[in-house]
Order: sequence, then structure tokens, then C-alpha cells
Amino acid sequence: MTVKHCNLCGELAAEHKAKEFKHTYKGTSFVINQPADWCGACGEGIINPEDNLSTSVEVQTEKSKIDGLLPPRAIKAIRKKLGFTQREASKYFGGGANAFNRYENGVNPPSRPLSLLLITLENDPSALKKAIANSNGSFDYLISANDESLVVSSDKAL
Ligand SMILES: [Zn+2]
Repeated sequence: MTVKHCNLCGELAAEHKAKEFKHTYKGTSFVINQPADWCGACGEGIINPEDNLSTSVEVQTEKSKIDGLLPPRAIKAIRKKLGFTQREASKYFGGGANAFNRYENGVNPPSRPLSLLLITLENDPSALKKAIANSNGSFDYLISANDESLVVSSDKAL
């Protein structure tokens, strides 16, 4: 291990190593083994972008539990089960060309609707092919001229 000067306190006591680091998210705490330039003098750590990337999946996994969203590795598993590359999945589900790369690397969480959709598709992957095949339909069969339920329920809501 190379000891170097700490960027915060200036002491010759900083070395790059992994150390347990407590995160607090929405009032819940969890511990991640975080690599950083940890200083033995002041106790602070400088987390560089590579250090951050190496723990982003773990951090996002813990946050996902708190938010009730799919964690990165589950998103990857479902995408593979659906037979999509990251680019293809991003094309079908939106969020930009690199969306699934970001979800699977813990850079961004999925939205709740996407999370729920992927959980649904995990149980029935064939539902996606049906939905894509039907997505250009008129959906007239869902809208009956005699169906006043929408009007009635909106009146009730008022
Ligand atoms: Zn220091």
C-alpha cells in the first residue's frame, strides 16, 4: 500500500483501501465496503469516480430495498430472460439509449412503473410480445358506447 498525503488534512496518512462506510438513505442506514483514499489521521476518505463505480451496484441495491424498486442485478436478470441487449431494452422501455446500462450499473434507479412492469414480465415474458404486437391496435374493443362507468365514476369522484 502506498501512503500519501491526505487531501483534506495534509498528513502523510492516506492510503487506498476498502473500509466499511455507513450510508443513510431516507432514514435507513446500511454499510458498504467502500474503497477510497482513507486517511488514518483525520479518518476522512476521498472517494474517486472509480471507487464510486465499484460500489454503485451495492449502494443502489440497498436503496432499492428501501424504495421497493428492482435492484440492478434483478433488472439485468429479467432483461436477459426477455432476450434483450441493454440497447434493445432501452428502446422498448424508454429512458434513453443507455437507460439499462445505468440501471444495471446502479447509476440510476428504474422508475416505479418500469420496476413493476419488469416484475410482471418476469412472471410472464410472453406478455411483452403480445403487447408489442397489439400496440398499434385501435383498442376500440375496450371502449363500449354503452359503458357509462367512466362518467359515473368521475361524477362520484366530484
Ligand atoms: Zn486526513
